[in-house]
Amino acid sequence: MTRTIEARLFAKYRVNPGTGCWEWLGSKVSGRYGGIRYRGKQWRVHRLAAVLWLDFNDDPAIKVRHKCDNPICFNPAHLLTGTHQDNMDDMKARGRQRGNMGEHNRKLSPAQVQEIAAATESLRVLADRYGVHNTVIHRIRKGKRANAASDPAGTCT
Ligand SMILES: [Zn+2]
Repeated sequence: MTRTIEARLFAKYRVNPGTGCWEWLGSKVSGRYGGIRYRGKQWRVHRLAAVLWLDFNDDPAIKVRHKCDNPICFNPAHLLTGTHQDNMDDMKARGRQRGNMGEHNRKLSPAQVQEIAAATESLRVLADRYGVHNTVIHRIRKGKRANAASDPAGTCT
């Protein structure tokens, strides 16, 4: 009688009390990720977890990522599948290719926020200079300095 895949997974894991990660204690693949054989295939444990519990279809084009940055974790609540994160990464990659370093979300220092608030140049010039999105400059100019410094990714339409 064979054990279910779930039983095999939970035979070799521990819950990290600090992070809630389900840490795989079995063998590893690529030196970092948990590995397990299942239905004739060598799986990364976290990808298998996504298939079992997140309706992931094992599309080889889609990566399963760890929100917790713990490669041996297979807690489905810590995994990201699908296209949203891919899109974010693609945006960053395209930003780097354009030469603006994709830093629309970078944090400004309080001193930089004050400089921007006092500057007289156009939004575009300042956005390029500080490597942030126009909307960040716009928000600072509107006087939302604290918000702009702590949440530069926010939108301003
Ligand atoms: Zn985790």
